[in-house]
Amino acid sequence: MQKRLSLNEYMNGILAGNRIILSRAITLIESQLPQDKPLAQQLLEQLLPYTGNSVRIGITGVPGVGKSTFIEVFGKTITSLNKKIAVLAIDPTSQLTKGSIMGDKTRMEELAHDPLAYIRPSPAGSSLGGVANKTRETILLCEAAGYEIIVVETVGVGQSETVVKGMVDFFLLLMLAGAGDELQGIKRGIIEMADAIAITKTDGENAQAAQNARLEYLHALHLYPTPVNGWVVPVMTCSALQNQGILEIWQTIALYAEKTKTSGFWQQNRQQQNLGWMYDFIQQTLEEDFFSDPIVTEKIPRIQSDILAGKILPVQGAKELLGSVKRTH
Ligand code: GDP
Repeated sequence: MQKRLSLNEYMNGILAGNRIILSRAITLIESQLPQDKPLAQQLLEQLLPYTGNSVRIGITGVPGVGKSTFIEVFGKTITSLNKKIAVLAIDPTSQLTKGSIMGDKTRMEELAHDPLAYIRPSPAGSSLGGVANKTRETILLCEAAGYEIIVVETVGVGQSETVVKGMVDFFLLLMLAGAGDELQGIKRGIIEMADAIAITKTDGENAQAAQNARLEYLHALHLYPTPVNGWVVPVMTCSALQNQGILEIWQTIALYAEKTKTSGFWQQNRQQQNLGWMYDFIQQTLEEDFFSDPIVTEKIPRIQSDILAGKILPVQGAKELLGSVKRTH
């Protein structure tokens, strides 16, 4: 294991925008080792005054929709405006299988070499909730390091969108033309979460289909109630390959930020997200404590086999386990 730095070394390095120290600080907060937790906590507390000043953007879409290609061009657009961008990922597959949908191939190589960009792969974790909490903390560290735009990328196939929606200011859904919602595995709820939809690969033979898809989605969105913040969800088209429509997407996000900051929705949303974070943390801590309890660990195999054999009811097993833990909170 790499040696830990002192609190001051982390603080000063991050505030100076030193990417190596930022990476080491993220490794510290991602650490599962109990002895790392106090330092990680202190660091976050001390950095808090320097956080919150970014535009946090969630980007989702099924594998193959063009996320990494899009984010690369989007990122280059941001850095060409002389703004710093950090790209974080939540990859729901990496916890379940060793293979990851997003992590293996070399992604966003050009952006990765841009001095104004910082790319961090998905943290490993035992649960989506745990990974989500680490990502929230990573967002804060990146903000303290001066990143003005933070992208949290996820694959549009499961629960991770809800988790990402709970930590970003703007949620962008990337869609393919002509594939049909069911085919894309996009659930109705995900469309409802979107602050903008962008149809990708609007180029070559696909251009007409993309324009048609745009109209279809616009029509479909009319069937949903207007969002509480009054924002009319735009359906845009883009081509990362031809660098078309990407700047417009950034301008739309910037407009959203301006409007919702004026209306107060931006701040309210972040307040609610902070409450959500607290409840998630409680849930996660209780769960971790419970499953690391030695009595629970010892009893689980027997109770599991009793349930499998139909000897006891699941609730009875759960109650026995719950009852055997000493409550420390
Ligand atoms: P991801 O799995 O969502 O990250 O998708 P990728 O970014 O890896 O892209 C999947 C495939 O779509 C790759 O073969 C890309 O070259 C292609 N692709 C991505 N963006 C575009 C685009 O704007 N136009 C076209 N024609 N192809 C694209």
